[in-house]
Amino acid sequence: MVYINENFTKLAESYLFAEIADRRAKYAAAHPEAKLISLGIGDVTQPLCPAVVQAMQQAVQEMGSAATFRGYGPYEGYDFLLQAILQNDYAPRGVQLSESEIFVSDGSKSDSGNIGDIFSAANIVAVSDPVYPVYIDANIMAGRQVRTLPCTEETGFCPAPPDWHADLICLCSPNNPTGAVFNKQQLSAWVDYAHEHQAVILYDAAYKAFITDPALPQSIYEIPGAQECAIEFCSFSKTAGFTGTRCAWTVIPKALQGRLADGSTHSLNALWFRRQSTKFNGVPYIVQRGAAAVYTPEGREQVRQTIAYYLQNAKIIRQTLLSLGFQCTGGENSPYLWLKTPGGQTSWQFFDLLLNELNIIGTPGSGFGQQGEGYFRLTAFGSLEDTREAVERLQNYFQK
Ligand code: PLP
Repeated sequence: MVYINENFTKLAESYLFAEIADRRAKYAAAHPEAKLISLGIGDVTQPLCPAVVQAMQQAVQEMGSAATFRGYGPYEGYDFLLQAILQNDYAPRGVQLSESEIFVSDGSKSDSGNIGDIFSAANIVAVSDPVYPVYIDANIMAGRQVRTLPCTEETGFCPAPPDWHADLICLCSPNNPTGAVFNKQQLSAWVDYAHEHQAVILYDAAYKAFITDPALPQSIYEIPGAQECAIEFCSFSKTAGFTGTRCAWTVIPKALQGRLADGSTHSLNALWFRRQSTKFNGVPYIVQRGAAAVYTPEGREQVRQTIAYYLQNAKIIRQTLLSLGFQCTGGENSPYLWLKTPGGQTSWQFFDLLLNELNIIGTPGSGFGQQGEGYFRLTAFGSLEDTREAVERLQNYFQK
């Protein structure tokens, strides 16, 4: 019989969303009349904007005609999308990158997991606690040692550089689950750490479109020296409703180097190109046309409105929580809100309270790591109507 990858036996079981679904289903079965409102999951609810839909329809037409049909595309993405990304996401923020430093992909989740292919299993990985679980599990699967960085009230709900050595550091800003956003000073401290330790930062900027404060960095490359120590993951998922359509990109600057035990140095960009050209055949042309439409004047305006819609939800939730005396972070420049459970309740006790008394579903913080115990995540991805109703229920209950 075949031998399996033993590292899979070291993975912690992931009960979080299954347990939420189970408790929800049991409650719904016992109370069929209840109107449950979910502020729990990180999936978007607003549809693709008209500019994207139109561009994809046109691309479908092209694919159906012999004169304009396209087969396999470039592994790293079509020029029209690479250029649009460079011109819109980086150049206006003073970041100089070239097309060959950007790789279009089918998701930040897959890329942040697959990037491990180019790194040795001997590297020590630092991840925050609480954390987006992909960073831990993907590295456990690869057999790497994972160490955690507290991402707590004391650290402003963003991880700070540790006094121990890490080779790979997974950072996420705006942070899932805490909603906190790195400022330039905090991020500079990480770039300094990476230079000092010859480490590589894996920077997940999947929620960067929610950053509206011009003083906050949207890209790690806004920090001097980051092109020598950071890989950045970005996504159209939350920016433009592509969670089901799938399009993202990863930046690996040419300046980034890794080494072999014999001391020879190698371009991480070249390794990733080799990896992608071996295991990936590109994002569909139709999808890339849709993604490029996000950058047209109409697309930009439509996407801006969608983000503003979610940010309005976030603001409504945040203001309500603060007015009710909750301690809460996030909800500004971020779709996530991270609140401290009242009266020392555990995350799951608070989950049950919200479900049973208010018919609201959120996500227990303990599901994101030990340091998440006693915290709870709410998201702004619901509809405005549901968000308004949810905060009214919170007010009625907690103002008593
Ligand atoms: N990164 C973070 C922090 C996320 O929370 C998510 C999705 O929830 C992703 C990446 C996934 O992005 P994509 O849809 O591009 O795979």
